[in-house]
Amino acid sequence: QPLGVALVGLGKYSTEQLAPALQETKKCKLKAIVTGSPEKAEKWRQQYNIPQQNIYNYENFDSIKNNPDIDIVYIVLPNSMHAEYSIRAAQAGKHVICEKPMAPTIQECEAMIAASAKANKLLSIGYRLHFEPYNLAMAEFGQNKTFGDVKKIIARDGMDIEPNVWRLNKKLAGGGPLVDVGIYCVQGALYTSGELPVAVTAKEGPKTDLVKFKEVEQSMKWTMEFPSGLIAECETSYAQEMNLLRAEAEEGWFELDPAYEYDGKKGRASDGPFEFPQVREQALQMDDFANCIMNNKKSKVPGEMGLRDVKILTAIYEAARTGKKIRLSESKHYKPQN
Ligand code: NAD
Repeated sequence: QPLGVALVGLGKYSTEQLAPALQETKKCKLKAIVTGSPEKAEKWRQQYNIPQQNIYNYENFDSIKNNPDIDIVYIVLPNSMHAEYSIRAAQAGKHVICEKPMAPTIQECEAMIAASAKANKLLSIGYRLHFEPYNLAMAEFGQNKTFGDVKKIIARDGMDIEPNVWRLNKKLAGGGPLVDVGIYCVQGALYTSGELPVAVTAKEGPKTDLVKFKEVEQSMKWTMEFPSGLIAECETSYAQEMNLLRAEAEEGWFELDPAYEYDGKKGRASDGPFEFPQVREQALQMDDFANCIMNNKKSKVPGEMGLRDVKILTAIYEAARTGKKIRLSESKHYKPQN
C-alpha cells in the first residue's frame, strides 16, 4: 500500500513537476491537495481523481490530522510560508517534505526540526538533485578523488526572472536569487567536495533594474573555503541564465552544464563526456522518503541539511553586507557538523 501524499500549494512546481512525478512513484501516491483556489481544486480533483474529502484549504488544513489516507504533507508554498505549514503538518501528525530553501531564518528551520521531532515524524527537504545520476556522479568523482584532489569548484546558477512574482518580494521569498537558485551552487560545492565550508566571502552585484530588484539582490558572487584548502567560486543571478557545476582537480576536471535543470543535464570530464539515463528525480526523491518512513530511517536530505544550508546562506549575506570574510566555525551562524 503506497503512502498518501498531500501537496500544499498548487503553483508551478506542484503542477508541472511534483504531480506528474507522483504518477510515477511506487511507494507514495497523490491523495490530497491543499489550495486556496476552488477552481484549482476542481481541476485537480478531476485530473487526479482526488476524493472530495481530501481537498483542503489553508483554513481547514489542520483537520488533515483526522485523515488516515495522508502520511506525507509536501509544502510547496512561497519560502516565508514553509515554516508555518511544515509545523502545522507535523502537529497534525504527518511526515513532512518541505521545499527549498527550508525557511528564511535559522530560527524557523530550528522550530521546524523541533516540531517534527516532537511529533516523532520525519522531515526532509525537496533536494531532488541528491537522487539524480549526474549530480551523484559529481559527488562520486569528487569524494572518491577519481581525478585526484579537487582544488577548485565553480558553480553558477541564474535565470532571467519575470517581473511581479513573489520571488522578488523580500517578505515572501526571504532573499533573492541566492536563496532561490544560488542554494544549488552551495549544495553542489558541498557534495562535490564532501566537505563543509569554513569561511565565505561575498559581493552583491550592481542592480541594472531598480524596479524589479527593489527588495532583493539582482545577483551575488561568493566564495566558500573548505578545510582541505579547496575554494568554490560561485555566482547567482536573476538577470542572467547560468547553470554550471565544475570541479578542477589535480589530474583533470569534470563538470555539468546544465547541472541543475530538470531535464537535459550534460556531463563532461577531461577524459570525455559521461552520460546517464534521464530520470524523474522528484519521483526518486519522494519514493526514497516513503522508503525511509516505511523502514524508520532518516532521510539523506533531512531538515538538518536544510538548516545547514540556511546557515551558509545567512553567512553569505553577512559577508556581502559587511565586506568581511565570515568564518563559519566561529560565526554565531554555524557550527561544523562532523
Ligand atoms: P509558484 O508561485 O508557482 O506557486 C506558489 C503557490 O503558492 C501558488 O499556488 C500560490 O497560489 C500559493 N500561495 C499561497 N499563498 C501565497 C502568497 N501569499 N503569495 C504567493 N503565492 C501564494 O511557485 P513555485 O515555483 O511552485 O515555488 C513554490 C516553492 O517550491 C518555493 O519554495 C520554491 O523555492 C520551491 N521550488 C522548488 C523547486 C525544486 O526544484 N526543488 C523548483 C521550483 C520551486
